[in-house]
This record gives sequence, C-alpha cells and structure tokens, in this order.
Amino acid sequence: MIERNRATEHKAGCTAIGVFGGAFDPVHFGHLRAALELAFTFDLEKVLLVPNGQPPHRPRAFVNAGHRVAMLQLALRQSTELFLDSRELDRAGPSYTYDTLASLREEYGAATPIIFGLGADAFEHIAKWHRADELLQLAHIAVLSRPGSEIIARSACGPPFESAWSDEAEPLRQQASGKLYSLDMTPLAISSTRIRAQIAKGWSPRFLLPQTVCEYIEAHQLYRSSL
Ligand code: ATP
Ligand code: MG
Repeated sequence: MIERNRATEHKAGCTAIGVFGGAFDPVHFGHLRAALELAFTFDLEKVLLVPNGQPPHRPRAFVNAGHRVAMLQLALRQSTELFLDSRELDRAGPSYTYDTLASLREEYGAATPIIFGLGADAFEHIAKWHRADELLQLAHIAVLSRPGSEIIARSACGPPFESAWSDEAEPLRQQASGKLYSLDMTPLAISSTRIRAQIAKGWSPRFLLPQTVCEYIEAHQLYRSSL
C-alpha cells in the first residue's frame, strides 16, 4: 500500500514515532485530533494510524476493512503528520497490540522512541491485554483524556504501570520505551458508536468527521442499519 511505504521509508535515524490504533468504524475528528496532538506533544516525525484486524476484546467491526481503510486514507490526505499503517490487517488471527509494537520495534531499531497513544477508556482495560506486562518494554504509552472517561489513578494501575508515569514529555523522547504519560487533549466528545447510531436513524455525520469521509459513507450507504 502506498501510504504504508511512505510511512516507513525513513526508518533509520528516525527521531521518534507515534502509533495510534483503533477500529476507525468510522474514523472521526476525535481520532484525528488525538493522533495530531500526540504528534505535537512529543514533536513526532509521524504518527502511524493502525486499523484493527480482529481485535480480541471487542466485536467484529460494522463495515469491512476495505471501507475502514478507504475512509482513513481520505481523512489522512488532510494531514502531513499522520499515516496509515495496515500491518494488523495483513496479519491473520487476532490483532494484539503487543505483536504490532514488537514488529515496529524490529523495524525502527532499539533506539527510536515509539509512543503508543490510546484513549482513557481503552487504557482502563490495558492490564487484561495480551502480554500487558511487557508492553512498556517495547514502547512508551500516552493516555489521552476522553470526555466521559477518567484516566485511572496511577496507584490503581498495578505493576509495571504504576511506577512508569512521567509528568514531563521530554523523557519519552530521551529513551526508546518504558514511560507512561497522561496527555490532556482538546476534549471532543465524539464516538463511532454515536455516529453509527445517528446514521442509522437517518442523520448525516457531517461536522463530526471529514467531509470526504462523510461523502464516502453516503456514496456506499454505510451504517444505515447498524443498530
Ligand atoms: P466505538 O464507539 O466503536 O468504540 P470509538 O469512537 O471509541 O469507537 P475506537 O476506534 O474504538 O473509536 O478508538 C480508537 C482509539 O481512539 C481508542 O484508543 C480510543 O480511546 C480513542 N478515541 C476515540 N475517540 C476519542 C475521542 N473522542 N477522544 C479521545 N480518544 C478517542
Ligand atoms: Mg471505542
């Protein structure tokens, strides 16, 4: 895929990269702004947006991977910092973040800081993820604020997370992995669930996601019966 090659062609000597996964079912301004504020906070060269194949902890996506990728590609045309990375779709079986970060670590080498961003709602369940204890060996984790979800108390995270918090952004650029950071992003109370529900009752998703994505959804009549 062209976008993927573009994203990975300068791996050697890369300063720091971001990774932001999701179903993107559909992609919306909450995702896009989160990925962009991740880039701005850590002065990242790029943020890779990684659509899930079959995530282990949630039901199958409402529309197929082809549509989700097409919508992401349209959205990413409006940004020079964000890139599609389709590695989870190329892999058979469940999409584990551990495997995604391990393959990125292999590609970018031991020294490049990799910052995995996720919303507070997703972070709440991280202890149950596959090989959760080893995630910080592969990357840093930035937890982004999300309206309606509290970032769980540091002391309630359990090892190895509770002792990994950094109040400053700079340590995440100085070492390759191992830190947790709480990122207070512009609050955007947008969710794909709500967008799907609104489309199903005949409402346009305009102003919740890029106009090009809105037109794609209309052209392909997506999410009309997603309730
Ligand atoms: P759904 O309602 O289908 O779960 P969603 O809007 O939560 O969709 P996901 O694809 O599940 O989107 O989320 C991907 C990542 O983006 C997760 O880490 C999630 O926490 C984060 N995220 C999604 N929307 C926002 C938002 N509005 N603000 C901050 N983070 C968000
Ligand atoms: Mg979600």
